[in-house]
Amino acid sequence: MSLFTDDVVTFKSVLRLAYNFLAGREYLKKKKFKDRRKLIAVALPFSDLVYSAGGVPVFPIRMEKFNINAYLAALNSATNLFGWDLTTKLLTFVRQFDVLKILDNVLDDVIHTINHKYNELYELGIENGISSDFCYGITSLTGMFISKGKNLDANINYTIRCSAWNKYSESIKKYVPKEIWVDIPPRDMGNAVELLSENIKAAIGELEEVTGNLVTDNSLNKQFRIGNQVKRFYKTILYEFSASDFYPCNPATFAEILALLGLSFQDYNSNAQRYLENISYLVKEMRKRIEKSIGMDVKGMPRIMITPVFGGWEPETHEILYRLGARTIYADWELLGMLEEINVSKNSDPIEEYAKYLLNAMMKGVGCDQEALTDSYIKTAKDLNVDGLVFNQVFGCHSISNCYSLLRKKIRKKLEIPTTVINFNKIGENVEQVKTRLGALVEMFR
Ligand code: SF4
Repeated sequence: MSLFTDDVVTFKSVLRLAYNFLAGREYLKKKKFKDRRKLIAVALPFSDLVYSAGGVPVFPIRMEKFNINAYLAALNSATNLFGWDLTTKLLTFVRQFDVLKILDNVLDDVIHTINHKYNELYELGIENGISSDFCYGITSLTGMFISKGKNLDANINYTIRCSAWNKYSESIKKYVPKEIWVDIPPRDMGNAVELLSENIKAAIGELEEVTGNLVTDNSLNKQFRIGNQVKRFYKTILYEFSASDFYPCNPATFAEILALLGLSFQDYNSNAQRYLENISYLVKEMRKRIEKSIGMDVKGMPRIMITPVFGGWEPETHEILYRLGARTIYADWELLGMLEEINVSKNSDPIEEYAKYLLNAMMKGVGCDQEALTDSYIKTAKDLNVDGLVFNQVFGCHSISNCYSLLRKKIRKKLEIPTTVINFNKIGENVEQVKTRLGALVEMFR
């Protein structure tokens, strides 16, 4: 097989993941009006209950109209005609493009398109009176609900221990017809699993009302099984491929794949089975490509973990690090415990197992406890064997952002890897500082 052919064969799963993210609007319209399914908003990776109730989870930015990269749109219509399997016709079609550049350009374009939309929605949040003291994540999420909340049937909220987050969750009720709450106890005070199980049952009851479907142990376990497989593949990419001396693409593109996974993992692009197929194919494609030595030798390039990014971050960061000769790892869901599997063994109680999963995430950092969170940073940095850590300090965040000094102390004591902090307010606003800080960090490896 020629290099040309391989380039097309491999990574079609990433292109499809990107396409499914961006083409959400059309897909969701079809689900709502043709298939009569209920659209339920999720933020953070909490889509399992919605799937189990036969609803369609949607991370609300995906209801927006995106400018879809011309190649991606064309490839999609070509694959609608020919299927995703490589056919002579598809290859003939693809030859019009500079194939070796396709992946880099398309993914770069996808990430920029998404971020451009994030900024637009952030502005919409501000225009509608959100205090400029709120973090970027909350402000842009509010913008998402202002923009498209009316198309939703409900929103499911999981309480995290950030008071700003809970204030935001309260405030969006004016934009959605119904709010469903899952209150997660802040600590395991003995009966936390029972308490949370009751809260989950109540939320399930409300979801059943919205969707008109019954949630059973089977429907819960079916969804948990899909989620568990997705998480296994996600971890393979994080632990096996990101640590490899040879990457299946350049490190900036690899970071973009991680960024795309981070974003799309929140709602599985509204179709869990399709998402599982794509991520499983992605793992196969990456492995095949590495085996054939197609990609880039990255030996000697330090691996830098940047976190937290789920509340907003400067996406130029991975490009800057790449130009400086380093690789970027985004692993927020892993360090927050969201990639842990849910026990689906025989005789297990799915609601109780889900409660345990949520509580574990709460203890690891979703609960915003600084000790727990900094311990998770250290553990994940150690497990992933990264060479450096960049802390992304989000303006307006009073729950996570002020834990950097504690983190530094712990790193000095327990890890001894270089670390730095970058500040984030809005995409594109602080690129020069990011360049300077990252430049100084990478110097430490020389
Ligand atoms: S923890 Fe910080 S970044 Fe996350 S939602 Fe709360 S204020 Fe925003």
